[in-house]
Amino acid sequence: MTLADTAARTASTQQAVQQAVPLGGPSLPQQRRLVTSIPGPKSLALTARKNRAVSAGVGVTLPVYAVAAGGAVIVDVDGNSLIDLGSGIAVTGVGNSAPALVCAVTEQLAQFTHTCFSVVPYDSYIDVAEALNRLTPGDHDKRSALFNSGAEAVENAVKIARHFTGKQAVVAFDHAYHGRTNLTMGLTAKNQPYKNGFGPFAAEIYRVPTSYPLRDGGLTGVEAAHRTISQIEKQIGADNLAAVIIEPIQGEGGFIVPAAGFLPTLVDWCRAHNVVFIADEVQTGFARTGDMFACDHEAIVPDLICTAKGIAGGLPLSAVTGRAEIMDAPQGGGLGGTYGGNPLACAAALATIATYENENLVARARHIGAIIGAQLGAIDDPRVGEVRGRGAMMALELIDPATGEPDAALTARVLASAHAQGVLLLGCGTYGNVIRLLPPLSITDALLIEALDVLAEVLAAS
Ligand SMILES: *Cc1c(COP(=O)(O)O)cnc(C)c1O
Repeated sequence: MTLADTAARTASTQQAVQQAVPLGGPSLPQQRRLVTSIPGPKSLALTARKNRAVSAGVGVTLPVYAVAAGGAVIVDVDGNSLIDLGSGIAVTGVGNSAPALVCAVTEQLAQFTHTCFSVVPYDSYIDVAEALNRLTPGDHDKRSALFNSGAEAVENAVKIARHFTGKQAVVAFDHAYHGRTNLTMGLTAKNQPYKNGFGPFAAEIYRVPTSYPLRDGGLTGVEAAHRTISQIEKQIGADNLAAVIIEPIQGEGGFIVPAAGFLPTLVDWCRAHNVVFIADEVQTGFARTGDMFACDHEAIVPDLICTAKGIAGGLPLSAVTGRAEIMDAPQGGGLGGTYGGNPLACAAALATIATYENENLVARARHIGAIIGAQLGAIDDPRVGEVRGRGAMMALELIDPATGEPDAALTARVLASAHAQGVLLLGCGTYGNVIRLLPPLSITDALLIEALDVLAEVLAAS
């Protein structure tokens, strides 16, 4: 295909799209409306082009092509309006194209797009750092550094912890997910699809058991922590250990909520042994769990906290925030990157964070959690092994009732049926048997309840 062909084709697609769709943002009708099968003909055509143009390694959960999104709906190229219970994986907590964010980013776009903070700095980066230092757990002296992705934040947290402690080993957990770069693949537990064929992985990463109440044989949180600590002491030794990194509620691994006492016991042990405790709140952060951060639930104070996803309403931004003495350990120039804390992303983050606070989305997340808990809790089906989670981060673990074993095939059927009915749901879990719900916190009660009704119906029929 020639360049002119490509240009003509792009223009005709754009024209078709523009004719069919309204602007995104909350003015988009908050409704489920299907006008074709899912995926529709235009999406199918785009999938054919995708397969010829995009690496097969880049997977797609629901192959409808978005043309507009607002609040908790996504409108596709065929004119279907889907209910979004994924938020682009916990990113659009404030809703898609939230007005305050659109306004702030548009303004910044006209002022300047980039200088590189490490070349010529700007104040919005400092504003974001101050907001993170204020909002993250603990009232000690803090510093922040900004990056682009969750994986990059995690990599930098490990770099900082190693530099500060002068030690090298890092402990990660069963069912952990920390990203797809080399170091974070090494920290991630699940082989397929994240690690298979991509080794060798970085050295000095050790995996230990977590607390998984449904599959722990009745261990309390404190008992599970002692099992973990004993393994660390026997196999690694605190003298070699720079950091323990954990998601306070595990995300990709299955929305696993550790038993009460697990996290505080680990934090205490780390503090007593000069081990940096890193909370990976990339998925749990920013009001999602019904607290500003999931660590707040048990009042634990991490030494370093990694944030991303919900931080900037969809613009790429991440951060490491933590104790001043740890964060200030690396030499000048040791941290950073070309785009880290890009001015557009900082403008988006400031508007997003203001929205979480001004609209009290922490309370909204709790309300959403109560609705989901009540609706899913009322499903009388022995294949529902557990309904768990916190706030607007809830999940359903599906099992074979005869054996208690994970039922990944049923999970796949339920997800496919929900998608066909216009409800975007995501799966997760080491065993592929967990359905996770991550609605935008701006979702209306009515739309949420409609989506949950669809989930209950398709489960019953699957
Ligand atoms: C998504 C995620 C990451 C990786 O973030 P990216 O922005 O995709 O690099 C890291 N940790 C957790 C807990 C995540 O959910």
